[in-house]
Amino acid sequence: MMSSLQYVPIRHENEESLMIDEIIEKAEKGQPVDINEIYELMSITNTDDLEKLYSAASRVRDKTFGKNIFTYGFVYFSTYCKNNCTFCYFRNTNGIDRYRKSVEEIVEHCGNLQDAGINLADLTMGEDPLMYANNNEQLLKIVSAVRDEIGINIMVSPGAMQENMFAPLRDAGADWFACYQETYNRPLFESRRINQSFDDRKNQKIWARQNGILAEDGMMIGIGESVMDRAQTIQEMVNLNCEQIRAMTFVPQCGTPMEKDPQRDSTEELKAIAVMRLLKHDAMIPCTLDVEGVAGLKTRINAGASVITSIVPPKKHFAGVAQPEMDIDNGNRSVEHVFEVLEETGHHRAPTSEFRKLVADRKSKLPYKN
Ligand code: SF4
Repeated sequence: MMSSLQYVPIRHENEESLMIDEIIEKAEKGQPVDINEIYELMSITNTDDLEKLYSAASRVRDKTFGKNIFTYGFVYFSTYCKNNCTFCYFRNTNGIDRYRKSVEEIVEHCGNLQDAGINLADLTMGEDPLMYANNNEQLLKIVSAVRDEIGINIMVSPGAMQENMFAPLRDAGADWFACYQETYNRPLFESRRINQSFDDRKNQKIWARQNGILAEDGMMIGIGESVMDRAQTIQEMVNLNCEQIRAMTFVPQCGTPMEKDPQRDSTEELKAIAVMRLLKHDAMIPCTLDVEGVAGLKTRINAGASVITSIVPPKKHFAGVAQPEMDIDNGNRSVEHVFEVLEETGHHRAPTSEFRKLVADRKSKLPYKN
C-alpha cells in the first residue's frame, strides 16, 4: 500500500555529484538554469563539488575578461544616514562618530585613485538628508566636480532616490548606480531594512538603466535567509539584468540589533559569486575587501569575481562599510598591496582604457536612447 507521506528522493553522493556536474556543465555553456538547479548549486557542501563549481566559474570569467581584473576605489564621503537597517553600523540610532567630506577632499581622493591606476571611484553615502536637500544639490555637485576635475569613471551609491533624479545624476556624470536589495524575500527585507519600500528599492536598478546609467544590485548573506532565498535572490538579480551583481557576507556590527548574531565564514558568499558568474557570464562581480580584507581576495578571485572593490587608501580617514576599519590604516587595502596580491592569483589589474571600453559597450546596450 502507498504511504500517504510525501515522497522524498534519496540521492546517494555519486548521484548528487553527477547531477551537480550536469548543472555546472549546462551553465558553463550558457544554457538556462532553473531555480531548482540554482538551489542545488547553492546547497553544495562537499569539497570536490565546490572545487568544480569554482573552477567552472573561473574559466567562464577568464573566457569573458581574459586575465584582466578591474579595480574600484571606495569613497565613503558621508556616513550620516536617516535609516535604521538592523545590520548596519552606520544606522541612524547608533551613537558613532560621523563625517561628511568636503567637495575638495573628495575630488583630491578621486584624483589619487585615478593616478594609482584604479578604474572607478565608488562615491558612497548613507541616506544623508543634507545630500538630498534641494533636489540632491550637494550630491550632484560632488559627482560633477569629480567628473569635471578628475574624469575617472564614477559609480554613485546614494541609497534610494526618486525616479526623476536619475536623469540629473546621469547628466552630472554618474556611469554606474549601486543600490543593494540584500534579499528578494520581501518579509525578510522589511524586517532588515526597516520602514523602507521593497518595490522602491527594486525599482532603483530599473530606473537607473532606463535613464542611461549602469546598475549594480547586491545580496547579503547571513541575515536570516534560507538557501532557497539565496537562490531566488540570485535569480532575481540576474533577471533584472544589472551589469554588476554582488554577494557579501554579513558581519555583526557593534551597537546594532544584530551585533550578537554569529559571524559566518565566506563559503556561502564564494558559492554565490560562482553561481552568479555561471548564470551571467559577462556580469561584473565584485571581490570585496570589505569583509575579510586582503586575506579574502584570492578565494573570491578563484570563485569567479572580476572586479576588486572597496580599495581604500590608508591614513585618509575614509571608512569601509562592513568592516569600517579593517586593513585600512595598516595599508593592506591600499592600491599597491592589492595589486601585489592580485598578481599572485595569475591575474593583472585591467588598464583604465579597457574599463572605459567596457563601460561604453555596456551603456550602448541599455534600454535607453539619448
Ligand atoms: S545600510 Fe545604508 S541605508 Fe541602511 S542604515 Fe546603513 S547606511 Fe543607512
